[in-house]
Amino acid sequence: LPLSQRLLGRIRDVPDFPQEGIVFKDITPLLADPGAFSDLVDALADLAVRQGATAVAGLEARGFILAAPVALKAGLGFVPVRKAGKLPGPTLAQSYALEYGTAEIEVQRDAFAPGSRVLVVDDVLATGGTLEASIRLIRDAGAQVVAVGLLMELGFLGGRDRLHPTLDGVPMEAV
Ligand code: 5GP
Repeated sequence: LPLSQRLLGRIRDVPDFPQEGIVFKDITPLLADPGAFSDLVDALADLAVRQGATAVAGLEARGFILAAPVALKAGLGFVPVRKAGKLPGPTLAQSYALEYGTAEIEVQRDAFAPGSRVLVVDDVLATGGTLEASIRLIRDAGAQVVAVGLLMELGFLGGRDRLHPTLDGVPMEAV
């Protein structure tokens, strides 16, 4: 089987989680399979190298699980993009709209060395709201986003279209 089919085959659909009507993509079976997990990390690390990244940012919380080994595999440092209130300051923040209410994420102001080229890693792209805010935040912190690496993209939610102007040509790849 091709890599993407092997990896996607390790994701479990959970109906009505966390709310009725949502089919949640549960990645824990993939994480529990060392062969699949390491193939995923290798693919994302390859993206980092191809795009000349100098740092890897992970989005809380499942993005952390992927981004940290990707950073090590690519020989790069890891930067956490966290939910508000978790990082010691000074920090930069971005708010974004959720279906109900708003969310806020933060990064430390000095997280990126000048001239940093960042691979942004998350597990699942849904509406794209989290990723859009994260890209803005990383740019506010003075770094260049050179690629976005994902495990999977839920195409029917239109995340890629929403992100198109923000990405402005930056490659976004799901394995
Ligand atoms: P978005 O902001 O794109 O709507 O939501 C994306 C964020 O929510 C990502 O950080 C992702 O981890 C999480 N997310 C949304 N839907 C799912 C899902 O079905 N499965 C998993 N694993 N994460 C999801």
